[in-house]
Amino acid sequence: MKRRVIDVHCHLDFDSFNRDREEVIRRALDRGVLMINSGIDLQSNRRCLSLFRDLEGIWITLGQSPNDLRDLRAVEKNLEFIEKHVEELVAIGEIGLDFYRERNERKREIQRDVFWKFLKLAEKLDKPIVIHARNAEREAFEMLPEGIRAMFHCYSGSPELAKEIADKGHLISISTLVCFSKKHEEIVRELGRGFVVETDSPFLSPRRRRNEPIYVLDAIEKIAKLKKIKEDEVSKITLKTAVRFFDL
Ligand SMILES: [Zn+2]
Repeated sequence: MKRRVIDVHCHLDFDSFNRDREEVIRRALDRGVLMINSGIDLQSNRRCLSLFRDLEGIWITLGQSPNDLRDLRAVEKNLEFIEKHVEELVAIGEIGLDFYRERNERKREIQRDVFWKFLKLAEKLDKPIVIHARNAEREAFEMLPEGIRAMFHCYSGSPELAKEIADKGHLISISTLVCFSKKHEEIVRELGRGFVVETDSPFLSPRRRRNEPIYVLDAIEKIAKLKKIKEDEVSKITLKTAVRFFDL
């Protein structure tokens, strides 16, 4: 059987894919790459549903990125929107805290409030979550209510915290940054086998151009080298872990 892998986090609804979205998806599926696409706000969530809801091989998470929380009315509408579409999503996210981009304490407080509302929604709807945490990994981790299952997308915190998060039963997602970042190599070395892989397309490209889901294979190749196991095995384990976590 053909090898199958899953890119657990990408943004194919973004404008940078307007010209060739269908080809990008086709290229990925032809190489056995399945995808999970994450919405970042009300507008992006709407686009995710209209673009991907009927496609095979691509699943959707709907969320509210901590960046750009200027319109809190839209955030409230987004909460309702997500609840209404609970049957069509596999997780709530990305949601979280970004203290790398936000230095203002009052605005960080708004991020915490919004993150908390979405955590409560996930609890109510009994869905796993996808976390975006930058310079705030520890705080996001400590805010998680008991019983919530979280995937830390593009995890970039300390290797020690990664292990602590994984030991608590949450999931660390290793991005294509591992292809060229020593720090991310360290994180992979610290983890056992319970992690997943992502591209965060169109960002974090391991090549010179825009990132796309097919390049998750670059990350798999690198991880196989770091762990001294076969690429096939990395593909299989990460797919299985994702299927279980998102209940695909
Ligand atoms: Zn993302």
